[in-house]
Amino acid sequence: MSTPARFDRGHTDDLMSFLAASPTPYHAVANAAERLEKAGFRQVAETDAWDGTSGGKYVLRGGAIVAWYVPEGAEPHTPFRIVGAHTDSPNLRVKPQPDTGAHGWRQVAVEIYGGPLLNSWLDRDLGLAGRLSLRDGSTRLVNIDRPLLRVPQLAIHLDRSVTADGLKLDKQRHMQPVWGLGEPREGDLIAFLEEESGLPAGEVTGWDLMTHSVERPAYLGRDRELLAGPRMDNLLSVHAGTAALTAVATADSRLDHIPVLAAFDHEENGSQSDTGADGPLLGNVLERSVLARGGSLEDRARAFAGTVCLSSDTGHAVHPNYAERHDPTHHPRANGGPILKVNVNNRYATDGSGRAVFAAACEKADVRFQTFVSNNAMPCGTTIGPITAARHGIRTVDIGVAILSMHSARELCGADDPFLLANALVAFLEG
Ligand code: ZN
Repeated sequence: MSTPARFDRGHTDDLMSFLAASPTPYHAVANAAERLEKAGFRQVAETDAWDGTSGGKYVLRGGAIVAWYVPEGAEPHTPFRIVGAHTDSPNLRVKPQPDTGAHGWRQVAVEIYGGPLLNSWLDRDLGLAGRLSLRDGSTRLVNIDRPLLRVPQLAIHLDRSVTADGLKLDKQRHMQPVWGLGEPREGDLIAFLEEESGLPAGEVTGWDLMTHSVERPAYLGRDRELLAGPRMDNLLSVHAGTAALTAVATADSRLDHIPVLAAFDHEENGSQSDTGADGPLLGNVLERSVLARGGSLEDRARAFAGTVCLSSDTGHAVHPNYAERHDPTHHPRANGGPILKVNVNNRYATDGSGRAVFAAACEKADVRFQTFVSNNAMPCGTTIGPITAARHGIRTVDIGVAILSMHSARELCGADDPFLLANALVAFLEG
């Protein structure tokens, strides 16, 4: 039995590439799949009959991916150990009839996805990326990764109250990016994307497109101890989960459970979709995996009853300028290690026994961890943990990495925390 290698700053370097190459959930799962393929995982189609062979497998569906590794000799009732995460981030997404403009400016009509810090999207050079659906029923990824659009802020001379009263943004009127000059022409944006993708005109019959900051992730700080970048909520966890699963699978440890990565779309707007955590995707995959190994409903129940999920998502590091917004005795710090997230009203799924599971993994990985709990006077966020627990009856623990500026177009975390999380996830998936 060999032990998986431990991650270090090289993991954070790789995270920076992953973030830059994953402007949309579709790109994130394609990049995760590429890493899984390199580790010997093979894609299985939901429309095919599944077999019970051992080895690494994954299912791709839209912006979601579920990957699992069946060790040699796994029984039908062998339980799962799951790392859960989400692939989507708040951003500006293209409306169905995008070609608009006014006063000689060409603009793209956008809808607000999730709850972004709107101010962080102003005066940023934005690219455009997503998924094109073609006439023949296939889809293709597109990524215009150069400055193409911008939401220009109003000059301070025309809004003298902004400093005293704060910036007030109307989601409809003030967030439409410009992308050139001239009169808007119907079909212009999609024709442009067809041309950029080398597709014949009229080939694209549907699209899911969104904007992203084209600024690269970067180390920051006196000793480069911080990491600045987009979509760390929650591609940081998707990346760490992918790295941990491939490490455990390639170490060929003798596992008495099946390690799983489940990365869902649509967390930022409630998870209710065919690719969201509140859909049947994870349950279907786990159940089919049991049945493919000759299992019965009884085996499924036994496997699910023994299953544990670590649901990994970002949380809040203590903010030096707003420390009063945090609980006074729980102050997660950057580079202080992964966080255990607790909320007694089930905004997080963690309980005392879940804490023990995570503490054991961290101890085995020789990683210190911290605890996040909200200030009672502040609303507590939530994530896919409670949904996974309730929907599948799976014991779930909410964990993650503490960051600043959550839901900004450019977030900030400690540069060590991504690999400390990955090491804890490896220890958990190894069991
Ligand atoms: Zn998140």
